[in-house]
Amino acid sequence: MLSIERPDIRFALEMVEAACRIGKRVQAEMNVEGIEKSDLSPVTVADYAIQAYIGRRLREAFPDLQLVGEESADALRGDDAAGTRRLIAQAVQHEIADASESVICDWIDYGTADAEGAYWTIDPIDGTKGYLRGDQYAAALAFIENGEVRLGALGCPNLDAACRPQRGEGAVLIAARGEGAYARPLAGGSLERIHCSPQADKTQARLLRSVEKGHTNISETDLIAQALGVVADPVPMDSQAKYAVLAAGGGEMLLRLMSPKMPDYKERIWDQAAGSIVLEEAGGRITDLKGKPLDFGHGRTLATNTGVFASNGLLHDAGLEAIAQVCKL
Ligand code: AMP
Ligand code: MG
Repeated sequence: MLSIERPDIRFALEMVEAACRIGKRVQAEMNVEGIEKSDLSPVTVADYAIQAYIGRRLREAFPDLQLVGEESADALRGDDAAGTRRLIAQAVQHEIADASESVICDWIDYGTADAEGAYWTIDPIDGTKGYLRGDQYAAALAFIENGEVRLGALGCPNLDAACRPQRGEGAVLIAARGEGAYARPLAGGSLERIHCSPQADKTQARLLRSVEKGHTNISETDLIAQALGVVADPVPMDSQAKYAVLAAGGGEMLLRLMSPKMPDYKERIWDQAAGSIVLEEAGGRITDLKGKPLDFGHGRTLATNTGVFASNGLLHDAGLEAIAQVCKL
């Protein structure tokens, strides 16, 4: 049974809830244009603001613990980025009054620790492309200790409040190793334990996949559905909101196949850590596409894994078999 009084659990819930507020506020009040990062993925004022907020709050709450975040302030320190720094500071000021242009880069860079030992990891806005489109996105925070995910929290501001695979008023999820997975509406309410779907018939499996074709292989996903005998189309959804849906029983399989554009891509730990523990604690199973457990003991990436396959548990072997038939791994 999860203890809401545990400081780390309270902290994680509070952080993803604040992240949702920041994400929604930036979207409502600012012109959310993607700023080009050096790797050309869109990153917004909100990504930076959320990492700055959590970096600062973590320093206060757990000064000995490190943060590994997706973002760094490298691109923000020059004179030409003064306007962006100001917008980021403004977005954080609603939550922390003394946020200012002069401290905001340092707060962001609290999240540039090495991924080793015991540390928190944050994806401030997972599914940035979904965020920019006004679709699903998630704030994902996890605690990792010696290569094992111990705790995870997801804030999904645009997901159905009961985590069904549809748009809604938002949901918050939390899981701690050995203590179950829980969800509540973002608007408030009590945490309720969640469980994966009891579906054991592979032909009835509801598949979830990324929207972005650059993040998976859509035609192979369709072939896997065919191999399973599934008639329904895979459901496209951005971000770790997919794990929330799977953990709450709104789907049976989640596929992250290798994109033909990036066949050697290695998953980032912050894209999988929170979602994976929420799913496992709801009774699901998660491995890579070859059936190997995800190994969080190799720094910032899942360097020894290939893609990701997650399921309600009961259909995991059937899913792996279909993947092996369709994909060259
Ligand atoms: P999704 O919302 O399922 O499309 O997943 C979003 C995440 O995919 C982002 O946070 C990216 O870090 C990650 N990503 C970026 N490039 C790739 C890739 N080639 N393959 C898989 N995931 C990727
Ligand atoms: Mg991400």
